[in-house]
Amino acid sequence: MSPRLVTTVGATLRTATERLRAAGSPTPRLDAELLIGLVCGRDRSWLLAHPEAPLDDAADLESLVERRAAGEPIAYIRGFKEWRSLRIRTDARALIPRPETELLVDAAIDEIAARLTADDRPLTAWEVGVGSGAVVVALALRFRQAITLGRLTLVGSDASADALELAAENLAAHRVASVVQLACADLLEPAGRSLPRPDVIIANLPYVATDEVDARVGSLGFEPRLALDGGPDGLAVLRPFLASLPERAAPGAAVFLEVGVGQAGGIGDLAPARSSATIVPDLAGLDRVVRIGLSGSSGA
Ligand code: GLN
Repeated sequence: MSPRLVTTVGATLRTATERLRAAGSPTPRLDAELLIGLVCGRDRSWLLAHPEAPLDDAADLESLVERRAAGEPIAYIRGFKEWRSLRIRTDARALIPRPETELLVDAAIDEIAARLTADDRPLTAWEVGVGSGAVVVALALRFRQAITLGRLTLVGSDASADALELAAENLAAHRVASVVQLACADLLEPAGRSLPRPDVIIANLPYVATDEVDARVGSLGFEPRLALDGGPDGLAVLRPFLASLPERAAPGAAVFLEVGVGQAGGIGDLAPARSSATIVPDLAGLDRVVRIGLSGSSGA
């Protein structure tokens, strides 16, 4: 039996940081803290307070550090990402939830809450392209009561069976699996079933231009292309999605779209006739979310 190597948290932190720095990680120290925390089951503040603590899982750590050194995102290695104070399970089946997507959720929550208080009509909210399920988990937790009371139907769809599987795991982990209907769908066209026309639509569809996806290096290169690639101009998915709204969405529906930097202005031109397009700026003043209000008549 090989002898067990016992080292300390502080020494390991230094060697792992150096290894990751040499491999080109932009955040070597943070990465090392998160990975060491993962093998010892401790958070970062504990690690920093206990540099002298023994660490005897060095072999486990080494394989994690090597995965990170090869560019794999920390969230895939740890298997989760903290997002909007939720712990979202993450792996190569879907994109890692991004901070900018929090704005999309906040805008959709405000809209759904306002519509629920405005009158007693039952509502349907539909997230198109759920990916990991982060957004639909946040919506389900926020509106669980309205859903249980039959006031709100919450649908989440994706074209990727892998993503739907991960979303189902995240819904189950947050105990909201029973309040969300997951569906395999090409945009707003579900395979083999009918769903109510949505009053509120939330969509974070692929919007990155193909050559930008091709150029992604490091951890960005590990995420599924299907979730990112928006064709030559980044709009190849958004265009048919927007064109399908008059037929697929309820009259008067509100649609919240996450878009790429610089894309928001052009979305109004692609939106259906007689709809309004409003930009919801983020805290950094970037235009990342567009609200499209469809006309109230059944305009199809
Ligand atoms: N914000 C993501 C990125 O730039 C893209 C997400 C998307 O295409 N929907 O990596």
